[in-house]
Amino acid sequence: MKTEWLRKTIQDFEPYFVAPIAEKHVINANENYFNVLSIPAVKKELLEALDSFQPQIYPKPMADGLREVLADYMGVRPENIICGNGGDEMITYLLGTFLNPGDKLLVHTPTFDMYELGAETLGASAIKVKDLAGYRRDREGLLAAVKKYQPKMTVICNPNNPTGDLLPASFIEEVLKAADNIVFVDEAYMEFAQKESVVSLINKYPNLVVLRTLSKAFAFAGMRCGYLVGDKEMIEAIAKIKAPYNLNAFTQLFAPIVVRHKEELFKIRDDIVKERARLYDELVKIPGLTVYPSCTNFLLVQVERKHEEIFKALKAKDILVKIYRNSAELPNAFRISVTTKDVDDTLLSVFREELQ
Ligand SMILES: *Cc1c(COP(=O)(O)O)cnc(C)c1O
Repeated sequence: MKTEWLRKTIQDFEPYFVAPIAEKHVINANENYFNVLSIPAVKKELLEALDSFQPQIYPKPMADGLREVLADYMGVRPENIICGNGGDEMITYLLGTFLNPGDKLLVHTPTFDMYELGAETLGASAIKVKDLAGYRRDREGLLAAVKKYQPKMTVICNPNNPTGDLLPASFIEEVLKAADNIVFVDEAYMEFAQKESVVSLINKYPNLVVLRTLSKAFAFAGMRCGYLVGDKEMIEAIAKIKAPYNLNAFTQLFAPIVVRHKEELFKIRDDIVKERARLYDELVKIPGLTVYPSCTNFLLVQVERKHEEIFKALKAKDILVKIYRNSAELPNAFRISVTTKDVDDTLLSVFREELQ
């Protein structure tokens, strides 16, 4: 195909790379290992709900039933929520609602790629504030950049992917006070941190919008369900560009059942958090390896040597981790999703063997 047919802003884009999967233990995408259908009541309620399910009918445009359940969970009103096919779709909608060509998006780095990619697709560009040593966010640098550039949108991923760093809500409130424009806080992993959410600030700051997803703590990645939380007018603005029937009827049926069973999922979450602490404590002891404190379900690890060899040795043990190759910002790094002790014990034995 002729490159000139492509929209100018995407002509240099590489296709999004999803690693081919042959391994038994896939811990490269921060998925939850738990299957919600193994909760008997969830399976039963889903099957019962299917009795009156009508796939021939278009779904509810604003996912009314799901919106109510999520509003209840978030402690907000249904008008404060808009749902879609995962956080990724919500990021696309949010950027599409606010960014003009030439606009600036301010973001800390390293972080999730989707913000910058989405901004560039729209002809906007990213201003990036590099993390301090140890991948902790540069708070002063971020605040100074907000004041200096007044970007159209400031993005804070909290806790941050891939570093696991958590910023206090009080800092985000400082950003909200300093910013004349939109402040977008991605809280995809907030259930694992269990503190510092800024959802309660949406009524105080009409420029705040928060992303949440069922993909991580709710073990629902395959069903694609994410949502934005914000002031009613913020949500109405985003709804303007939403495809009318964006979220399919089956996800709208299934997701509320899972959210209503959140206590069971929070037990799994607690196990994962405990296992993360154990894995961290064990990794710290291995020479030639740096592991960063994390408030999520993953750990960022860097090795002094044998980066590619370790990746291969893990593969040989049927474990797929996320490897950062040729990354100036994340040299010799891996991101490891935390699942269960048996997987982590195998992982630890590989790191120990290769590095000791
Ligand atoms: C996983 C993730 C999301 C959203 O994922 P979806 O599966 O599309 O809901 C958003 N932001 C970050 C930082 C993530 O890691």
